[in-house]
Amino acid sequence: MTTITANLKKSAKKMPLKGMMDNVMEQFNSAADHINLHPNIRKILSITNNEVLVNFPVKMDNGDVEIFTGYRVQHNNALGPYKGGLRYHPTVDLDAARALAMWMTWKTSLAGLPYGGGKGGIKIDPSKYSESELERITRRFTFALADNIGPEHDIPAPDVNTNSQTMAWIADTYMSTRPPAQRTANQHVVTGKPDGSGGLEGRDRATGFGVYLTIKFWAEKNKVSLDDKTFIVQGFGNVGYWAAHFLEKDGAKLVAVQDAHGSIKNAKGINVEDLFNYTKVNNGSIVDFPNSKLVDKKDFFTLDCDILIPAALGNQITKENAPKIKAKLIAEGANGPTNVDGEAILLERGIAIIPDILCNSGGVIGSYFEWLQNRNGEIWHLEEVMEKLSKKLKGSFDKVFDYSERQAIDMRTAAFCIAIERIEKAYVQRGIFP
Ligand code: NAD
Repeated sequence: MTTITANLKKSAKKMPLKGMMDNVMEQFNSAADHINLHPNIRKILSITNNEVLVNFPVKMDNGDVEIFTGYRVQHNNALGPYKGGLRYHPTVDLDAARALAMWMTWKTSLAGLPYGGGKGGIKIDPSKYSESELERITRRFTFALADNIGPEHDIPAPDVNTNSQTMAWIADTYMSTRPPAQRTANQHVVTGKPDGSGGLEGRDRATGFGVYLTIKFWAEKNKVSLDDKTFIVQGFGNVGYWAAHFLEKDGAKLVAVQDAHGSIKNAKGINVEDLFNYTKVNNGSIVDFPNSKLVDKKDFFTLDCDILIPAALGNQITKENAPKIKAKLIAEGANGPTNVDGEAILLERGIAIIPDILCNSGGVIGSYFEWLQNRNGEIWHLEEVMEKLSKKLKGSFDKVFDYSERQAIDMRTAAFCIAIERIEKAYVQRGIFP
């Protein structure tokens, strides 16, 4: 063994795998270098404003008490209240919450919303708990967060393993613990609520619809049709399902899907609605869907397809699988699915990436509409919501695409530059207190 190889092997052993925070910081720093961001503003944006960690007890169905750990990280609020999801997953920790909160700051800024960025959740495998336990866990978590969230301060939304029901429990708990005269006025403490409880028609599909739209806009710019294009999706939850639903409606063909239970493929096509209905009667799992073949987890990303949509967790596309990916376009439905090493390989290979902070921003734009609707005492309808969402996303997409062409940089760096420049402007205008 040569000394160089031996040293490389030694350092590879010592080097811990990059966490999500390492990735978002590298993405931030490369955009900050590109725009020559003022060092003082770089310092401010490199760190989170507040980090809340709560340990709280919950009574289980059998009478035992279990202690849970929850997080809410607030990265930056220069442009408005903190905004971002709550995730229930065993991988939730401070590093993940910090990184995801930071991505939210760039996402809301890029979308031109009056929000900052926050994120949080509970370190938990929700599949191990009953519905009534999850309700008590959610309500007690909301109580523990207390005034660290609020409709004009920090507004959570659904994320992995949380949904409109989770948001309804949070809203109800938050409102019930306010002084009587303030209760109903606080409905917009969370977005992504059910239609009947202040939710927005279409918020359920907003993220996946946005993923589809950004793919469509990309195809238009590159003068290709979506008809008969094949796509694969990792994650068949809220984002993955709705993105697949709209792509299929536009003529594209779903040929493989992966979820937490396994991976399936069918080169002739997988009917999206049939698969969705199948998961409803198969404990939420896609495995053993009729006419599909099982795929080894490690081979999933390397399957033949035109478009790859990661819509599950972060750090999925890495230097291990990036060299073997066959897709020509990656549309990041998930937050942080491609790490910086994986991205360098993809760009080198000429594979286009629609970055997460643009690709999945339909969700937070939908959340903003819901917040406005609640704040103004209005009720918006589906058609109007989808139209406004399309218009807003088209504006963001064009801005990022044009910036990247003009400056000859990749779309992620372009999106970060636009987002950071907007926040920089706010700091320059306001100065630093005192
Ligand atoms: P979800 O809980 O509805 O669905 C998650 C899906 O991922 C499920 O199908 C699950 O089985 C699958 N999954 C979980 N672990 C997996 C693994 N190790 N390998 C493969 N599949 C796995 O969550 P969601 O709301 O659809 O969120 C998915 C991603 O999109 C997350 O990264 C989230 O941060 C991001 N996102 C969500 C929204 C939103 O509005 N829900 C908005 C923007 C971004």
